[in-house]
Amino acid sequence: MDNNNIKNLDKEFIMNSYNRFNIVIQKGKGSTLYDIDNKEYIDFSSGIGVNSFGASDDMWINSIVKQLSKIQHTSNLYYSIPQVELAELLIQKSKMKKVFFSNSGAEANECAIKACRKYSKDKYNLDNRFEIITLNNSFHGRTMATLTATGQDVFHKHFDPFLEGFKYVELNNINDLKNKVNENTCGILIETIQGEGGIVLIEKNFILEIEKICNEKDILFMIDEVQTGIGRTGYFFSYEEYNVKPDIVTTAKGLGGGLPIGATLFNEKTENVFSYGDHGTTFGGNLLSCSGAISIVNRIDNNFLLDIKEKSRYFINEISKYKNVEYISGKGLMLGIKTNKKSRELAEQCLEKGLIVLTAKDKVRLLPPLNITYGEINKGLKILKEVIEE
Ligand SMILES: *Cc1c(COP(=O)(O)O)cnc(C)c1O
Repeated sequence: MDNNNIKNLDKEFIMNSYNRFNIVIQKGKGSTLYDIDNKEYIDFSSGIGVNSFGASDDMWINSIVKQLSKIQHTSNLYYSIPQVELAELLIQKSKMKKVFFSNSGAEANECAIKACRKYSKDKYNLDNRFEIITLNNSFHGRTMATLTATGQDVFHKHFDPFLEGFKYVELNNINDLKNKVNENTCGILIETIQGEGGIVLIEKNFILEIEKICNEKDILFMIDEVQTGIGRTGYFFSYEEYNVKPDIVTTAKGLGGGLPIGATLFNEKTENVFSYGDHGTTFGGNLLSCSGAISIVNRIDNNFLLDIKEKSRYFINEISKYKNVEYISGKGLMLGIKTNKKSRELAEQCLEKGLIVLTAKDKVRLLPPLNITYGEINKGLKILKEVIEE
């Protein structure tokens, strides 16, 4: 099959919900990928921040294949070694207390929303204390609850009525936050850097204010680390930089290194919110996904995080020299580049020349594999420079 065959079959048989780029990726190693015509690409996207150690990483493959040769799935009716190993690792790294495994970012957030409401119900038993505050321009997923939590009108067309009990606050606006928190508020859910929203940083002061209000009023402080987590920003979780202590943390994308997995982490305040039957999933914490995730999380230690920060400085330093770049946003290996050109067109031109980048709103978004080499970075940046300066 050639590129056009595949494109036509896709159009014929697959729901028309993705405006795909015109490329069929066939294989890869690390941050170098190949399409079906064997054209080479440098990967600055890692499948939207998923392939943390790039394509077909040997340690990751070994970890999964070892499990695959034993058994692929047992369900959550039984205890499992990969689940407890991964859970212990995540708890050690995050200093949270407990974890619930699911299959995706949306599911991890769905779990957080349910847990938040149940915490409030159990403790206060009030009819109206179920409101959750999120931020304008946020993104939390595509299920009905997480879509409701998402503070972007573009995602809200067509699907009403939405879930009751969500309010949106303007980013970094403490007055707006104070106006919207009331006796009905049970949780506040934020990203520290809005990914899909265009790599937009939330200010430290605002994050600290949210934590303070949450502590004062026993509102649960929830952080969505689906995109920012697992080393992406140069911290294991991005909130560590601000020294805050969330009550619930969600993560997904980079956790499995390419297999689907989501995790919702709970602290001492929330660790007992679910009892038997309150929440569940068939696939969540699947043995292969957990085995892959163990090999990823194991390698994200302090030295590795320092490497990420250094690569980040290198990217920023180089890109800020390019003509037509207005500014660069983001942290670690989660970067947004604002230029005077359309981001989709830039991404298409990069593809032509052999570089895969993402977009987020009006920015070119870079989420390269965390272990990308300087050789690969330089190859990719050469193309990026040509395209941006053109
Ligand atoms: C991608 C993303 C999600 C949704 O994750 P899925 O795995 O696509 O369900 C939720 N929150 C944030 C911050 C994300 O970047």
